[in-house]
Amino acid sequence: MRALSARRLVFALVASLGILAVAGVRLAETGTEVRETRFVFGTLVEIVIRGESAAAAREAAAEAGALLQTLHHDWHAWRPGHLGDLNAAIAAGRPAEIDARFAEVLREGRRLACASGGLFEPAIGGLVALWGFHDDTPPEGAPPSSAAIDALVAAEPRMAALSIEGTTARAENTALQLDLGGFAKGAALDLAGRALQARGIEDAVLNAGGDVNVLGSHSARPWRIAIRDPFVWGAVAAVSLRPGEVLYTSGNYERYFEHGGTRFAHIIDPRTGYPVREIVSVSVLGTSGLRADAAATALSVAGREHFAATAAAMGVSAVLMIAEDGEIIATPAMMARLEPVGEALPAEITVTPLPEPAPSVACAAG
Ligand code: AMP
Ligand code: MG
Repeated sequence: MRALSARRLVFALVASLGILAVAGVRLAETGTEVRETRFVFGTLVEIVIRGESAAAAREAAAEAGALLQTLHHDWHAWRPGHLGDLNAAIAAGRPAEIDARFAEVLREGRRLACASGGLFEPAIGGLVALWGFHDDTPPEGAPPSSAAIDALVAAEPRMAALSIEGTTARAENTALQLDLGGFAKGAALDLAGRALQARGIEDAVLNAGGDVNVLGSHSARPWRIAIRDPFVWGAVAAVSLRPGEVLYTSGNYERYFEHGGTRFAHIIDPRTGYPVREIVSVSVLGTSGLRADAAATALSVAGREHFAATAAAMGVSAVLMIAEDGEIIATPAMMARLEPVGEALPAEITVTPLPEPAPSVACAAG
């Protein structure tokens, strides 16, 4: 526990240094590299563009950074914005007009919630708020009462109850409160990456505190990204990302509070209304930030027993999972991509194959 507290302090220090560094926007140029940094989605997001004309790279980086800032505002879970407006309309039983980009993200969220069997469930904003995670700083004090938790679970907030016709969204269930925290970062980095590509950028990385989308390569070598060790300050392994790949990690060490010797983390099991305990970290390698981000959250909930089936159903195959007892589990597709950081890979990694996805489950995006 003492080690965990110390680590939390280091994270807090790193985070606050990050905030100081980006009071406003930092744009730096190092040789053939242009960087832009923003503090959005609760983390420091760095865009690095390589090997382009400096002027073109600066413009593209600024545009992608501004887009991230807009999406951060529009989709924020507890500050005023488009999501707040939609949640207010849902609570009042009214339809709401939303923009096409937001509608598309919500449709994808609904499809992935269905594919995950309800383990990834962006409609549980009421529960996330009840646990105190709708704040810039982690909550303190006692957890909410079991009666309050049970009442929200019994109200069955589900993305399935959200209907989107064109750009009109409505929900039958007024208990539905949307929180895009489980996949907004991935959705936003996908859009920012596309904005860079539309400006002709070929080689770039968008790094949101270890959640990463890459375009092209670093130079002659690929972009190489470390996967953080959730127990000690360091990395468990690294992955060299191919052009267009993404790597997302969900961890219960990111946002949590402790009370009475128990840790309550920000990933909540929608079936029980309580935070996930068994899994401390899940990393997903793929080609869509939105999907990898959603899947990393879902697999944290699924746990050791169900993660493989859930991954297959959500359309991801490369997964690394670390349990609270220290067990490290990888799918064959992830195992093939892990590279040691330092001497060697961790000595024991349990390799678990994925089943075929169940063909009968149809989760339409429409
Ligand atoms: P991530 O770090 O991507 O796993 O996202 C965690 C965030 O997603 C939390 O801070 C909540 O805002 C939200 N969240 C928590 N539990 C879930 C869940 N079961 N499904 C979807 N989103 C969740
Ligand atoms: Mg996620």
